[in-house]
Amino acid sequence: MRAFTYAAPSTVEDALAAAGNGSAYLAGGTTLVDLMKLDVLAPSAVLDIGGLPLRDIRYDTSGLYVGALARMSDTAAHPMVADHYPVISQALLLSASPQIRNMASIGGNLLQRTRCGYFRDPATPCNKREPGSGCPALDGANRMHAILGTSGSCAATHASDLAVALTALDASVQLRDRSGSRTLRLEDFYLTPADTPHLENLLRPGELVTGVTVPVLAWAKRSVYVKVRDRRSYEFALTSVAAAIDLRNGIVADASIAAGGVGTKPWRLRAVESALKGRPARPEVFEQAAAHAAEGARPLPHNGFKPALLRQTVIRALTRLAGRP
Ligand code: SF4
Repeated sequence: MRAFTYAAPSTVEDALAAAGNGSAYLAGGTTLVDLMKLDVLAPSAVLDIGGLPLRDIRYDTSGLYVGALARMSDTAAHPMVADHYPVISQALLLSASPQIRNMASIGGNLLQRTRCGYFRDPATPCNKREPGSGCPALDGANRMHAILGTSGSCAATHASDLAVALTALDASVQLRDRSGSRTLRLEDFYLTPADTPHLENLLRPGELVTGVTVPVLAWAKRSVYVKVRDRRSYEFALTSVAAAIDLRNGIVADASIAAGGVGTKPWRLRAVESALKGRPARPEVFEQAAAHAAEGARPLPHNGFKPALLRQTVIRALTRLAGRP
């Protein structure tokens, strides 16, 4: 680990004033410290924002607000989250380990870096870590990699389960820098790699994620997160699906669905949603809708199983939702 300066600002304004080229915000530390130890990240200044007043979780007529520093575990256990948006609680509880969930923040979760092994190994080239150096994953170990949104420069998956759930729910992220505040839809916030895989989102230098908002969606009470992985805990998704459906008299009146483990960013499955709307919640309809899940997919040599697995994950999520009273 390389030398850095440390400061712990006590207000958002002080944090923004202290941020500069080469600085990094430290919240739960479960991503940043790992990557600093690996020499993947080497900030010249670490700004510990753990003391900032950004931990509120509240629900009212405008929807859900979660402060960026709310812990994953606290958010998952919050009764309003569990009741109104079970998909969020489930996505969080299927992430990481209890110890990490007790430390990691919501903002940090959304900004976590990819788990591509080449990215985390400074001895290998990686366009995301070192632009222009190459992408060994395309011809190398790519079983866990993306099949949607990839480019000839990068095929790393986005690692956050929470981001998949929030994308399905049309959530937004609140940002603040010295020039003011702005709010972006999470789906627009993340970028696909194209020729610039080192740019993963629209965050500006020194800008701080202050919170997340989720609009009111009454039928999100009927929502679920299904995660398929190599082992049952402490593992990233091969595929995952966040789904919410508005079921009326056996008919799917509306649906919101997103996928993880398959995209270079959380991937909204709008073609699946369209294929469900107005149709009966029956197995054959779920199969027909799921057939659209991997449209446009470009599997790599070792992850050709993902399109079929994604379709089955969609069917499993819809089947679980339809079976609920
Ligand atoms: Fe780097 Fe992306 Fe290639 Fe992985 S897939 S080695 S993160 S450029």
